[in-house]
Amino acid sequence: MGIMTFRNTMLANLFKKPVTTKYPAEPIDYPEGSRGHIEIEIEKCISCMLCAKNCPSGAITVDRKEGSWEINRMDCIQCGYCTMKCPKKCLHIVPGYTAPDGVKQVDRFVRPPETMKPAAKPAAAPKPAEEKKPEAAQKAADAVKTEETKQN
Ligand code: SF4
Ligand code: SF4
Repeated sequence: MGIMTFRNTMLANLFKKPVTTKYPAEPIDYPEGSRGHIEIEIEKCISCMLCAKNCPSGAITVDRKEGSWEINRMDCIQCGYCTMKCPKKCLHIVPGYTAPDGVKQVDRFVRPPETMKPAAKPAAAPKPAEEKKPEAAQKAADAVKTEETKQN
């Protein structure tokens, strides 16, 4: 029985296309949903930092002042959580092969200046509280007022 199954499989495979590809001579078609690396549309980013706060491996760094967004490619585990948390939908996990490297690669992107809000103006200094007149002076002023009212 075993030999018959083996023979049938062998004969069938003789007439089938090979399941392997000629990679790297031929490019690979990555199936939908395969995880490659994170890409950002930096012009849509609002530096809200939600991606950085929710990244389980701490691979993302956001600097609001500079408008920069950085990803440490070697710390990223391609979980795709940041893409779900981004309110502007500017993060995408794209299929592809990330070549190994001997050094930690950090990719940095900076928002275009026109997308940055101007720095907030410093708040106006509070007005000094009205000076309270000393009690005696206040009484004298009140008395003058009362006298004036009587005369009128
Ligand atoms: S894919 Fe996961 S590990 Fe990579 S940056 Fe996004 S949240 Fe972090
Ligand atoms: S969550 Fe999106 S918009 Fe917010 S800092 Fe990250 S990439 Fe930018």
